[in-house]
Amino acid sequence: MAAKIIDGNVIAHKVRADWRAKVDALRAHGTEPGLAVVIVGDNPASRVYVRHKTKACAETGIRSEVVEFPANASEAEVLERIAQLNADPKVHGILVQLPLPAHIDTRKLLEAIDVRKDVDGFNLYNVGSLVAGETIFPPCTPYGVLCMLEYSNIPIAGQNVIVVGASNIVGKPMASMLMKRDATVAITHIKTRDLAQWTILADILVVAAGKPNLITGPMVRTGAVVIDVGINRLPDGRLVGDVDFEAVKEKASYITPVPGGVGPMTVTMLLVNTIKAAQRASGLDVSDLDTRDLAAA
Ligand code: NAP
Repeated sequence: MAAKIIDGNVIAHKVRADWRAKVDALRAHGTEPGLAVVIVGDNPASRVYVRHKTKACAETGIRSEVVEFPANASEAEVLERIAQLNADPKVHGILVQLPLPAHIDTRKLLEAIDVRKDVDGFNLYNVGSLVAGETIFPPCTPYGVLCMLEYSNIPIAGQNVIVVGASNIVGKPMASMLMKRDATVAITHIKTRDLAQWTILADILVVAAGKPNLITGPMVRTGAVVIDVGINRLPDGRLVGDVDFEAVKEKASYITPVPGGVGPMTVTMLLVNTIKAAQRASGLDVSDLDTRDLAAA
């Protein structure tokens, strides 16, 4: 069996087109959705990510501003600017580009963002809301995965899901979101004994470990849905995921490629979260952050 490829670029394009219409509705209502991106230092990868985000905002009709600090900026300076952004009615979403320089306490900065503007969903209040099933802003990467499953009409309720990787930004929130959708979920991590005995159980396998070729053909059940979140740069310059794509696509029913899979969805869901923040701020009704409303849009 050769798997169907879930094309992240195609789905991202559709979601953005749907949400562009919501931006137009907001503008007609007198609100221009606005995102502020705070970046400290000159990490080249962070600069590329920030450029992608601001470009995507422009294409969707969202006003964006980049708030830049030099690498030696003090924590107090950045906190003060975040407080100003919290108070600015033109700013509906705030994100702090990670990683931050070592002298800055990342958790302290994330906690300083107003929970109503925390479009990355990393503030502890939003993390707790997600676990309690009352999501405010779902973290963008797992939200993107959920959206891809929805758009591909892949059932989630009652499915066995194995999430490989237990980070705060991907693995853990992914598991919470899929549990909310009535999947049976297990998370594996670096100390999991015999990873294959878990992965083989998966109807849906979500891999976010950051290890090229971690998942090989024999580790995947025939007909499984395989979502590869990993992004790894090989010594020869190629960009690959965590899954041995060529081998696994012969067994899976659906698979995401790298690049062109989950990546384009992450930025798209940031736009969605920002638009929802603007909808809330302008008193419009926001259905609570399922992706079912995305698929129906
Ligand atoms: P992370 O913080 O390094 O977390 C990786 C997780 O994988 C950890 O929980 C780690 O376990 C686990 N792990 C590592 N090796 C493993 C193994 N051999 N077996 C099972 N679990 C293993 O990374 P992250 O931020 O979640 O990102 C994961 C990958 O996704 C990276 O390649 C990253 O570039 C990519 N990513 C992609 C997007 C996108 O938009 N496509 C967005 C975010 C991240 P321990 O905690 O026990 O060490």
